[in-house]
Amino acid sequence: MSGLDIHNQPLHKLHKQRLAGEISTVEITEHILDRIKKLDNQVKSFIVTYPEEAHQAAQKADDKIKKGEPVDLIEGMPLAIKDIFNVEGTITTCGSKILENYRSPYDATVVKNLKRHNFSLVGKTNLDEFAMGSNNENSAFFKSYNPYNLDCVPGGSSGGSAAAVAAGFCLGALGTDTGGSIRQPASFCGVVGIKPTYGLVSRYGIAAYGSSLDQAGTLASNVKDATLLLQRIAGYDEHDPTSIKLPVADLSTNFDQDITGLKIGVIDNLDLSSCSKEVRENFQQTLKLLSDKGKVEIKKINIPIIEHATATYYIIAMAEASSNLGRYDGIRYGFRAESENLTELYKKSRELGFGDEAKFRILLGTFVLSAGYYDAYYKKAQKVQILLRKQFKQAFNQVDAVITPVAPTTAFKVGENITDPLKIYLTDAFTVPANLTGIPGMSLPAGVGNNNLPIGIQLLADHGKDGTLVKVGDWLERNIEGPTANLAI
Ligand code: GLN
Repeated sequence: MSGLDIHNQPLHKLHKQRLAGEISTVEITEHILDRIKKLDNQVKSFIVTYPEEAHQAAQKADDKIKKGEPVDLIEGMPLAIKDIFNVEGTITTCGSKILENYRSPYDATVVKNLKRHNFSLVGKTNLDEFAMGSNNENSAFFKSYNPYNLDCVPGGSSGGSAAAVAAGFCLGALGTDTGGSIRQPASFCGVVGIKPTYGLVSRYGIAAYGSSLDQAGTLASNVKDATLLLQRIAGYDEHDPTSIKLPVADLSTNFDQDITGLKIGVIDNLDLSSCSKEVRENFQQTLKLLSDKGKVEIKKINIPIIEHATATYYIIAMAEASSNLGRYDGIRYGFRAESENLTELYKKSRELGFGDEAKFRILLGTFVLSAGYYDAYYKKAQKVQILLRKQFKQAFNQVDAVITPVAPTTAFKVGENITDPLKIYLTDAFTVPANLTGIPGMSLPAGVGNNNLPIGIQLLADHGKDGTLVKVGDWLERNIEGPTANLAI
């Protein structure tokens, strides 16, 4: 293998090669670090990188390999983490000025899980402030760019993680998904993103946005790596009361499987009118591939309430955000404004510390929870959520998985949607149902559209059926043919 190709190789293949003595972890790491140094000034995916630590972790893994000791897949391998996960001793900004200098005193459970396998943290990635956004333009620090087209956004809010994976700046990454923040940037950047079943992965130590919707997951260049990473972060955690108290199944049993006879649902009443022609065509092509070659049964299903999912999501997410962000008061965490007067200090710290989108959501969230409006908005949203869950449950009595586009379009231009929040919110229509219902979702590359931009496809499955996503996603990845996008860096 030429050194030039290293970052194009899946993590699991590089792991095999290093065990066979064909490549070293140090070589892999140096190649990746070199790319970051040369190219991340164009993509701007990282808030911070840790080259020395990554180098040391790689050296340690190589020493163990030399001694013939067992080495895990991710041991010493450069991975990236969205800067919303607490990693002990690092600054965890959440893309916000209010936490600009906040140093994490402990590890998030998922970080602990990765540390158990001696992973290598190459850097922490950029995000929309507190994960609120679809474009990475709400980061308090800088914008990130799509490595396939630098005029475009990488998506959000885990846009830094998706861009870093796509650009070959890491071999996999962690993100969070409250309403699509792993799946949509994965789609925009041509990588794989998994939002697991709610509760499969601990939320402890991850800054909360909408706690009943938030779920951490993985991004990688291929389904197998994203799955193997997920396997390493998943599991019951007593520190997260919503964590599922069941052993995690071995998801890798779903690799390289036949999908003949599976039933895949297409939501008949899902409004695709907002989709671009290329996204619609790609969706139809993927359905045809699944039925012609995959021999699955494509079934029409109905989820009548789904048209209200986006509005419901934004009410619930903002309500929870207004409560979760209450803790940033200038006293306990992060930025503190100067003032002699306590009330003034709270006010000023929040006024100067939060960006516009966060403030907007705190205000709206407080409004929908306030006496007089609670029933009209929040309570109604909860009723819609219950119906949505019921209707998905009924659908999963008939089908094994559901397929939809990830987003109505490919990545949009930087600055294009910045003045119209509603327009951006409406683009979340296909991803938010999974968060409102807690079911798992996967986004994977399905083709390339105009302007060299990747097009993604979304798979959904019933609670706890994350393995079905892996089975179908892995099959699709092996069978989708045709051109792929070329990096612009
Ligand atoms: N775009 C959605 C929002 O802004 C989703 C964000 C997320 O999943 N964190 O709320």
